[in-house]
Amino acid sequence: GLFCPSFVRKNWLLLSTVAAVLAGIGIGVLVREYGNLSNLDKVYFAFPGELLMRMLKLIILPLIISSVAALDSNISGKIGLRAVVYYFCTTVVAVILGIILVVTIKPGVTQRASDIDRVGSTPEVNTVDALLDLLRNMFPENLVQACFQQYKTKREKVKATSAVDKNSSIFREEPTTIAMTANAPENKTQEYKIVGMYSNGINALGLIVFCLVFGVVIGKMEEKGQVLLDFFNALNEATMRIVQIIMWYMPIGILFLVAGKIIEVEDWEIFRKLGLYMATVLSGLAIHSIIVLPLIYLVIVRKNPFRFAMGMAQALLTALMISSSSATLPVTFRCAEEKNLIDKRITRFVLPVGATINMDGTALYEAVAAIFIAQLNDLELDIGQIVTISVTATAASIGAAGVPQAGLVTMVIVLSAIGLPADDVTLIIAVDWLLDRFRTMVNVLGDAFGTGVVEKLSKKELEQMDVTSEVNIVNPF
Ligand code: ASP
Repeated sequence: GLFCPSFVRKNWLLLSTVAAVLAGIGIGVLVREYGNLSNLDKVYFAFPGELLMRMLKLIILPLIISSVAALDSNISGKIGLRAVVYYFCTTVVAVILGIILVVTIKPGVTQRASDIDRVGSTPEVNTVDALLDLLRNMFPENLVQACFQQYKTKREKVKATSAVDKNSSIFREEPTTIAMTANAPENKTQEYKIVGMYSNGINALGLIVFCLVFGVVIGKMEEKGQVLLDFFNALNEATMRIVQIIMWYMPIGILFLVAGKIIEVEDWEIFRKLGLYMATVLSGLAIHSIIVLPLIYLVIVRKNPFRFAMGMAQALLTALMISSSSATLPVTFRCAEEKNLIDKRITRFVLPVGATINMDGTALYEAVAAIFIAQLNDLELDIGQIVTISVTATAASIGAAGVPQAGLVTMVIVLSAIGLPADDVTLIIAVDWLLDRFRTMVNVLGDAFGTGVVEKLSKKELEQMDVTSEVNIVNPF
């Protein structure tokens, strides 16, 4: 039975999170109607949610480092390759799906750009710089700095992105600017809050690249490297225990995040205007996550994909609530390892890399949004431009950091590649916070299915490794 005590006991966290979401919606609607909160009150109101975000982000750094640096170098090459191939293929499928839908549904054809209110400001991103920035991020010039790239105030942040500091990443910084301008153009307390809520503060890509090299090198050092291997393994164990503690706080944090968002949104009317565009993105995301990804999983793993997805429910819900695949990472780990029983040696590599570079939802969204904007501008796209969109949307999704609304920034790369005015992202900013949640959920789902697929494909290596590690224990010298 669905409500038997053991079901409740096993899923209490999921159940209380669902309850928190519902309560958050209820409280949000009530406070919005009767609360009459000032902008500052709104910030205070959402504070427990801000704390949750801080805790989740706090744990990303030890989590990424301890998982990636303690890889087993004997198999990591093959596993890594499989993961990257799976990620790449699913991203391309997502882009193609998005293109097919937007070309068929034509959400922008019946409308004009001038009918839609523009909100916010355009991030200054130039295609070449953006791609170079992606590479720059892979090689942070200072490891310590890569761990805490964060800004003190909004003002400083905005300045830093505009040509003054070319080294700093466009991808991590701009989303905050957009979120700020989209939600609260004139309100300083909101600006402050969003800095706290949205900036990721970590160059995850750079850290992963470094830790990967480090992990491989440790593995090759044999006995001399054992100390480090043990260290990172212990660190990983400790980190996951802290994650477990954070999960206790999760329902409370989520309740206030949801309620806070409902109170904050100012313009619901825009949802009607952009309704067909949103429907196109959402149906693409739905098809990708209900049909495409499960089918790939079914064909390769030959197990029930929906049972697997159910195991990830807590992570998917978290992604939907916080719009950040990096910050969801701790939860994704727990679901994959504890509920779906994926081998730790797989999750360690596949999940951090997935959260950083694999974004099916974002890729699909970028393709739809770019073509939607082309349609608004009455631009007929030729096949060359469509191909350009697929390539740049894929690159843009890889380049986007797993933080809220990062995809909206890298969107500018796609637009400028086909000669559309970058300014036109302001047409879709107003509804982006909502689409962001759903695409983040699909991003996390894609990462999760990746662990199942890669585990299945790597069965042989994993078994071989079991044998070798046994030998190591029996005869360490
Ligand atoms: N928010 C998304 C994520 O964290 C990225 C995006 O903006 O598309 O996965």
